[in-house]
Amino acid sequence: MGSSKYLDGLTSEEYKNLTENLWKIQNHKCFICCEEIDLDLHPTNIDHIKPLVNGGKDDETNFALAHENCNKSKQDADLEVARAMARLSKILKAAEDKHETPSLKHVLAENGGSQFDFSYKVEDGKLVYAFSQIGDNTIRTAEIFTDTLSNEQTAFIQVPLQYLYHDEIINPRGINSSIGLLIKEFHKGNPQLHISLARLDSNKIKIFDGQHKAVAQIMLGTRKLLVRLFIDTDVDRMIETNTTAGSKLKQIAFDKSIVRQLHDTLYAERIKKYQQDHDLSENDFSFSETNLVDHFKGERGNIRTYIINSQKNLITKNADNKLQSYINFEGRGSELPLSYSTFEKTLLSRFINAKTILTTPLDYRADEGLNPRILEKEQLIQLCNILAEELLIGRFSTEIGTYRIENKVTEGKDKDISDDHLTAYRIFKEEIMYNWVQYIERLINNFFSLTGELYDDQNLFQIKFPDQLWTNIRSFVRNLRDLPLWKDRTMASTIFGGKQVYDYWYTAFKTGKTPDGTIILSKPINVVDMIK
Ligand SMILES: [Zn+2]
Repeated sequence: MGSSKYLDGLTSEEYKNLTENLWKIQNHKCFICCEEIDLDLHPTNIDHIKPLVNGGKDDETNFALAHENCNKSKQDADLEVARAMARLSKILKAAEDKHETPSLKHVLAENGGSQFDFSYKVEDGKLVYAFSQIGDNTIRTAEIFTDTLSNEQTAFIQVPLQYLYHDEIINPRGINSSIGLLIKEFHKGNPQLHISLARLDSNKIKIFDGQHKAVAQIMLGTRKLLVRLFIDTDVDRMIETNTTAGSKLKQIAFDKSIVRQLHDTLYAERIKKYQQDHDLSENDFSFSETNLVDHFKGERGNIRTYIINSQKNLITKNADNKLQSYINFEGRGSELPLSYSTFEKTLLSRFINAKTILTTPLDYRADEGLNPRILEKEQLIQLCNILAEELLIGRFSTEIGTYRIENKVTEGKDKDISDDHLTAYRIFKEEIMYNWVQYIERLINNFFSLTGELYDDQNLFQIKFPDQLWTNIRSFVRNLRDLPLWKDRTMASTIFGGKQVYDYWYTAFKTGKTPDGTIILSKPINVVDMIK
């Protein structure tokens, strides 16, 4: 197709002969889709394999035959790249038809990969191995290196696809069509700079990092991949390392931390779909939450829910969140002071506004550390950590737990229950926490209103908190903790005896007295006093 002086110069008879010749050379297959061509049924085109603009020759050595429709819908001007992309699209589609997330796993399966266990032994600090199942009995050795700090043992080896597996545990993400850029890059002859990482798991070599680069090279015909093989590594540690590398440390130029949510595939999948629908690369986050909501209009409220839930999930399940180990995710249980439902109702829902869908790009000011969603996440984690540090760590004993605490106090069976433990237990009761969290909101508002600047009081944690504000919050939590009522054991059968309504404690904090007139505080709670 296009302008070929050579083809234009052919008579129709010569053109027909060339078509038949190419058809025979290509074993009756289309160069792009690799499916059969029936010359009676299928309209065809002769095209340059390497485009003339890229220096391809205008002669028979550079011609290929393709279905006319394949050639029209090809994804790249270079037919070898177009073929790699067409084959990949087919693999991705087959996986999607089976309702699976397309990944390296499917690409390996389609290319004869993932068949055999790795035969190896460790001798004199070397990895000794062979690939006998594919007819290669050569005994190979590779030096085993030990990391100075982590003590991880690794070797660098080249592995045939038959021995490679995709690591679905450490890397559950799929691949997407933006891989086309990598295919083009490798097709140019440029090398892979960052090596793929793999680990040994029950004698299987599993790739957990470098999935996209592996796929791109396999689609271009690579049958062996060079990997750094972790020989005896701990999966949990690797998951943690891999996650941190992608988010905080940005060691892996792959995901921005905003979508680094292994837990939240629903939101992540919509982001991926949006990028695909708009021909954006997987690293392109130049669109906003509002764009996403508009794009997936048919799904009505869902996208909003995914955005908010993923944010809540990122905070709650974050490895840096010290409060996490005090949250009971199972529902009933009597060891931990805070149920997830309480945590969600009193803190997350108060500070993460379910109505807020941002109009700024997902990566807005991320480089400066001022991205609103990242700030919201990190600052809420910081608040959780203050609560954990001031109220729980070294204070609340999970051995004593929460079971019948007030009864034990009433019955005098409370010798092993410390004041700190009792305080923590009481402070995290839902109806109590719901009310003191409001004071934190109040003190943040006070702080920002005194700056004299406009600020978004509906999304407080999306604004960067100065150090002084953090100091104020910590002081408030300490002063709250040190109020005498929490360790007053005479209140076990009365004030703390049963579950009260939210308003009961609202009145108590506001007036110092319970609604029935019992004085429980020397004076009403006032945030200005409580930050001193
Ligand atoms: Zn075709």
